[in-house]
Amino acid sequence: MKDYEIVIGLEIHAEVNTNSKVFCSCKNEFGSAPNTNCCPVCVGLPGALPVLNKKAVEYTIKAGLALGCEINDIAVFERKNYFYPDLSKAYQISQLVKPLCLGGGIELDNGKFARLNRIHLEEDAGKLTHKNQTIGTLVDYNRGGIPLMEIVTEPDISSADEAVEFLTKLRRTLIYSGVANCRMEQGGMRCDVNLSVKEKGSNVLGTRTEMKNLNSFKMVRRAIEYEAKRQIEELESGGKIVQQTRKWDDNKGKSFPMRSKENSNDYRYFPDPDLLTIEIDREDVEEIRKTIPLLAEGRKKIYVEQYGLPEYDAKILTNDKFISDYFENCLKIAHMPKQISNWIMTDVLKLLKDYPTEDLTNIISEKNLMEIISLVEKREITRPNSKALFEIVSTATISRNADKFENEDLTKDESTEEINAKKLAEQNGMLNSFSHEELVTAVENALANFPNARKDYNETPDKVLRFYIGKVMAFSKGLANPQEAEKLLKAELEK
Ligand code: ADP
Ligand code: MG
Ligand code: ZN
Repeated sequence: MKDYEIVIGLEIHAEVNTNSKVFCSCKNEFGSAPNTNCCPVCVGLPGALPVLNKKAVEYTIKAGLALGCEINDIAVFERKNYFYPDLSKAYQISQLVKPLCLGGGIELDNGKFARLNRIHLEEDAGKLTHKNQTIGTLVDYNRGGIPLMEIVTEPDISSADEAVEFLTKLRRTLIYSGVANCRMEQGGMRCDVNLSVKEKGSNVLGTRTEMKNLNSFKMVRRAIEYEAKRQIEELESGGKIVQQTRKWDDNKGKSFPMRSKENSNDYRYFPDPDLLTIEIDREDVEEIRKTIPLLAEGRKKIYVEQYGLPEYDAKILTNDKFISDYFENCLKIAHMPKQISNWIMTDVLKLLKDYPTEDLTNIISEKNLMEIISLVEKREITRPNSKALFEIVSTATISRNADKFENEDLTKDESTEEINAKKLAEQNGMLNSFSHEELVTAVENALANFPNARKDYNETPDKVLRFYIGKVMAFSKGLANPQEAEKLLKAELEK
């Protein structure tokens, strides 16, 4: 068998995080009742005129700047004509010849720079839901007209690993920049994979196929592995690759031909006469550049250099913006980076696996986590008790927010009383408000004041132990930790 190289180019669609749609004032919102966020413009009734949402343009430029793109001086909206029931206008407003952003790219861990070709702004189409034979197919036009960035790469990617790393970094940059939520499970980010294979060392690209319908990074990985193998086997058996669009079926673990690949001519692109050319002012671009916040890498650097966290911790904390935000909110309550990081990296992230959420306060509020950390720092609680307290507080918080998790085992706790870590610690007798020295004295006193009671220890050890614990508790006015008292007493009695 010959040696082959895999060549991959990605086309990524990300919904832009605006309040309203790109050419009308309908809500850009996921999960509304079907066909309620619609108007004559976004369903394309005759005579309705589109008005461009400035924010969508700004956010696309911002994404471009964050990814190192050049911003074009002008951008032109064109009509991409095709007929399909998810597109009631029978054309999609997109950009072909003059997109907003050109070039740019993402550096991969192996040192490769995976180049972008372009980023353009277009509108999303409606959503079809295929039901059974009797109901047929349902269409929801709520998604139609939501601003969509299309990010196209050069064919620079050579493996499933590289593709997934590229997508992970891209997604992170868009989220940190605040221009897109990229919620894969809501279709907020979708990816098409163009793939061809060529003989190793050859600089002629092979014929590619394009796989659609990839809604998770896991699917991207499986689809790439399957398609590379299929193409190599096809060529090895003397066959030819047909340029086509294929649909990935994740259940079957296979892709199937959908249609022969269309060319841009097939879409009869032409400039949309209803929309003006966008002229992009250099000063505006610089203003937008200033609004790019610190991204993951920048935050990581601060965590290591200023907060003294290990690289590893800093990387985990900044992988997801919502975790990094939570960490920083905790830090604002008390500047204890290492302690906060330890709790997040272990206890909080462990719970996050079982209770996925983008809002960690659904698991435990920053205030409560910091209260627990402070109790530990002030030695008002033992380590084991602090872990038990975390368990109590997070369990209460999770059941309070049951409706925000997709977990059928959870029943919502409807009570309204504030969940307060300190209070819960008190109620559960977890605070060592009695110092160790005081406890030792209390034990000594109990034994000295009631010397006769210990004589029965050999016959009825439990009874005697309980007697002395009672004395210690009474002496401490209930503040001593009974388990600690028991340990000390046992040691004394067994002498
Ligand atoms: P379209 O798919 O709309 O026709 P392009 O021709 O610009 O658009 O290519 C789309 C994607 O396919 C780009 O990401 C590009 O890098 C990638 N691509 C182009 N040729 C190949 C090839 N021979 N093998 C793999 N990917 C390719
Ligand atoms: Mg394509
Ligand atoms: Zn509308």
